[in-house]
Amino acid sequence: MRARTAALVAAVVPVTVAAAAVVLKASHWELYADRHRIHLAPVARRSCPDCRGAGGWWVGGANPEMEPCGCWAERRELTLRLLPRPTVPYDEPPF
Ligand SMILES: [Zn+2]
Repeated sequence: MRARTAALVAAVVPVTVAAAAVVLKASHWELYADRHRIHLAPVARRSCPDCRGAGGWWVGGANPEMEPCGCWAERRELTLRLLPRPTVPYDEPPF
């Protein structure tokens, strides 16, 4: 039974990861994950009529500045902080 469950999990995890990658790419999100947080940041859309995927444009004369495009700059960033894992089990004293 455990081998069957492990085989099922081994088959489902790559499919789930591939589906998540497709959803992130289709909705123009970039995923960053480490042991402290999972961060989703919007990226510029290639189909944007204003920036055409560049994310912005330069404005100004002598000191040009980057003007961010609204296709990503006005969208929310999402950050999910991961809780720290206790190093000592709760039922044992620390010493
Ligand atoms: Zn744009």
